[in-house]
Amino acid sequence: MRDLVARLRQALGDDAVSTDPRVRRTASTDWASMSPVLAAKLPAGLADAVAFPADPAGLARTVALAHAAGVPVTPRGKGTGNYGQAIPLRDGLVVDLTRSRRVVDVGAGWITAEAGTPFVTLEAAARRTGQELAMFPSTVGSTLGGFLAGGAGGTGSIENGWLWSGFVTGLDVVPCTGAEELVHLAGADTAPLLHAYGTTGVIASATVRLRPRRDWTALFASFPAEADAVAAGLALMSLDPAPRLVSVDEPGIVAALPVDPAIPRDRCSLRAIVDTGVLAAARQVVRAAGGRVEEVRAGGPALLTSLSFNHATHRVQKVRPGLAHLQVGGPALVERAAEVRALLPGALVHLDGLGGPDGPGFVGLLLTRYTTEQALYEAMDALRGLGVHVSDPHTWELAEPLDDVRRAAARFDPAGLLNPGKLPAAVPA
Ligand SMILES: Cc1cc2nc3c(=O)[nH]c(=O)nc-3n(C[C@H](O)[C@H](O)[C@H](O)COP(=O)(O)OP(=O)(O)OC[C@H]3O[C@@H](n4cnc5c(N)ncnc54)[C@H](O)[C@@H]3O)c2cc1C
Repeated sequence: MRDLVARLRQALGDDAVSTDPRVRRTASTDWASMSPVLAAKLPAGLADAVAFPADPAGLARTVALAHAAGVPVTPRGKGTGNYGQAIPLRDGLVVDLTRSRRVVDVGAGWITAEAGTPFVTLEAAARRTGQELAMFPSTVGSTLGGFLAGGAGGTGSIENGWLWSGFVTGLDVVPCTGAEELVHLAGADTAPLLHAYGTTGVIASATVRLRPRRDWTALFASFPAEADAVAAGLALMSLDPAPRLVSVDEPGIVAALPVDPAIPRDRCSLRAIVDTGVLAAARQVVRAAGGRVEEVRAGGPALLTSLSFNHATHRVQKVRPGLAHLQVGGPALVERAAEVRALLPGALVHLDGLGGPDGPGFVGLLLTRYTTEQALYEAMDALRGLGVHVSDPHTWELAEPLDDVRRAAARFDPAGLLNPGKLPAAVPA
């Protein structure tokens, strides 16, 4: 390791490599503590050193040197992933990409940027050209590479689905093969890199989709019953253009949101980022479903993003520690809501709109009291029994199907040095 650190310092400069214990510790944690299961098990590794390459060439040099030394490499963006994805389970070198943050180019319908570019920077660059990002996560300070390798969707996902549904048009990837190179992948060839936790190559830069910029505003509505808010949310998602975001919270979650006159404490809250051109229709949808428009706030979209997806989990856990979250979705989540509630009495549900091939629907976070890991997995099985889609946020391992990911890993990381411990071995048939 000492030799590698010396070589990295020579290649990148002294201030681009750290063995400071505090820097190593910070680079070895993420938001896994959101899960009581992961909190008990992680962090299970500690970076021996942290490298901060400032551009794709520096990244390629870094990975080639680590490969030559046989040292594990864990790529890292802002470290906001909440499954322990960025934790270096086998120690080694953490490669922090946050200094490689240049917007390379913007064209009609696309933006190319280095992996460490934060979403706030990407959105600002897009807006200067009359466009906007097709999607971005609620963690707007997180990085492009970290989102593509560790995230899923967010604001914009009603119209554009998950990030692996066409958001990415090209990637420049650094393989861990010993060759100091950037491999360009386009279209469907990018798929094995997406949500693969960096096990199939380190993303140096990416080209993602932009949409024409819209005039968005924030609609705050409230309802006496969750079913009415859900019905209104589904109707809002059918407007043209679709909202950029629709979130629904029951009063138990509303109690954990910031105090705001537009989010009354005793009612279900529906918040949507809607195009001003369909505002009148959106108001009508709310009224027809038995709801009340609390406020329309021109400067409100950023607030609504900050209350969406796992920000809801984070806020609820702050005021009610001891709750574990389950990532749920599919029509059964709302169509069989009463059975879901009966299965997990006292559980709280946060919903966000999501578009898909069968039209828009909801994904959600179900917050339930944590007792044991076994009880949590039994709850997931029972939910699946109701037809609810459940993805497990309490494991650092990638979820099947992984055939394409394993094939890409064999090509780009034959020695298994990239983020080891995250890609489970194939179970023989
Ligand atoms: C409160 C909260 C809210 C969240 N909301 C959302 C949301 O709305 N939508 C969503 O999808 N996620 C969400 N997340 C998860 C996470 O914040 C996002 O996915 C985020 O975009 C990850 O980016 P990051 O820069 O923090 O990546 P990191 O956490 O640093 O890394 C994530 C994974 O990607 C790998 N990686 C990082 N950079 C690269 C690279 N250049 N090449 C290859 N691999 C790389 C890492 O090794 C790790 O496995 C949320 C998390 C929290 C805690």
